[in-house]
Amino acid sequence: MDGNAAQLNATPPAALATSGSSKGDVVKQLAALGGGDGSIFSQLLNNPFFTAGFGLAGLGAALRYGSRGAQQIGALVRRRMLVDLEITRHDKSYDWVLNWMTAQYQTRLGTPRAGTMERVIRRFMPGLHHLQIETSTLKSASGTEKTAFSLVPGHGKHILRYRNAFIAVNRERVDRNFDAMGKPFETVRLTTLYSNRHIFEDIVQEAYKMAVQSTEGKTVVFTSQNMSWQASGQPKRRRPFDSVVLEKGLAEGVLSDVHEFLDARTWYLDRGIPYRRGYLLYGPPGTGKTSFVQALAGELDFNIAMLSLSQRGLTDDLLNHLLLNVPPRTIVLLEDADAAFSNRRQTESDGYSGANVTYSGLLNALDGVASAEERVVFMTTNHIDRLDDALIRPGRVDMTVHLDNATEWQMEKLWDRFYTEQDPSGDGKRRFLQRAASAGLPGNVSTAALQGLFLYNKADIEGAIGMVGQLRSAATGK
Ligand code: ADP
Repeated sequence: MDGNAAQLNATPPAALATSGSSKGDVVKQLAALGGGDGSIFSQLLNNPFFTAGFGLAGLGAALRYGSRGAQQIGALVRRRMLVDLEITRHDKSYDWVLNWMTAQYQTRLGTPRAGTMERVIRRFMPGLHHLQIETSTLKSASGTEKTAFSLVPGHGKHILRYRNAFIAVNRERVDRNFDAMGKPFETVRLTTLYSNRHIFEDIVQEAYKMAVQSTEGKTVVFTSQNMSWQASGQPKRRRPFDSVVLEKGLAEGVLSDVHEFLDARTWYLDRGIPYRRGYLLYGPPGTGKTSFVQALAGELDFNIAMLSLSQRGLTDDLLNHLLLNVPPRTIVLLEDADAAFSNRRQTESDGYSGANVTYSGLLNALDGVASAEERVVFMTTNHIDRLDDALIRPGRVDMTVHLDNATEWQMEKLWDRFYTEQDPSGDGKRRFLQRAASAGLPGNVSTAALQGLFLYNKADIEGAIGMVGQLRSAATGK
């Protein structure tokens, strides 16, 4: 073999290059170079391994060029015939479109039979079989938690059919990083035929409408999660304004004040006065402070951004940041306003304020609230005596409302809310109020306790009247 190789190398390549011969001549020359039948060249040509190697290399090259060509054709077809819509996670429409997709698939599941085309496509492309669960937890200021689940299309490729158009959907992570809210960077890409391109606009519109409908007549509650306001759980049905019974005229007084404020936007802006209004609701626990703000939000068609100032990990900076970034049409509800003042006492006594909001942090945050949009801030406390006059100053707190234990008037109204149908003559109510008065209940029991009694005896007027004594002992401890 070495000898043959030497033979080949011994012939200067110039002999081939300078001959200027035709292709046939070259073959002949090659054959001649090889020295006829027994030559190295013909041996190579006759060697099945050698020719197979050449064959494979040729095939590989053909495939490479072929697949590159196919890729280019594919890209051309894609460019010419397909159209993409890419939505990133940080766009508002991202969640709308995911929810729309789930709804779309659920609707299709209900259709009797998929057509032939759809069955063929589904055979090769996975449908929306891969769902992902999204769990959100709503934590109320009292510490109770409510959890809500929703299903959205998982990561990967899906195929959807919408108005006779097939849409390939690809939801994927863009990289391994997470944003400040702890959510991964990801996109969802919808692809369809170019001729169906107008469908995207309809999809986004429909998805938006669906999102709006899901909150229509509902109140979204935002809580602070990962340094920002996040909708907590599913939107809740609006609380009817008259479902919270405050002392006569009180609720209406606050409502008309808020209305007046909302109507005075230009007045504030023209005078360069920050367009905000603060309210302080104080009184014993269970008198409807939180519920009233929820009912008010429902009445005004606002959402609520809710925060407890005694919440662990809430710092002055975070409070400031949150108050500067309240979602539009949202009432801010700061519960346990006295917590900041307790911190001050703690700071003064031991020089250490812990991780919670401080008194000056609260005042700074309230003073910093400035926006072209309205800012309505409600604060609640069970301990007005712990607050400082500096807080109750126009711009910080413009209206102070005392919500106290149930008066006789409130008892009567609450009774009506529960028993109007069962007690049309009002006889049961008269007896209940008489017993309550002689037991000294008015002014001594919370509306929450009263509501609890009525709930316990939902369909039983006599049971409610009979339990007045228990309410009395619960209220006074005697
Ligand atoms: P607070 O914030 O004053 O502690 P909540 O608003 O949390 O009281 O009320 C606790 C429960 O009692 C809620 O279920 C609420 O519906 C009921 N409740 C309290 N006060 C009233 C009221 N004035 N009218 C109707 N329900 C009330």
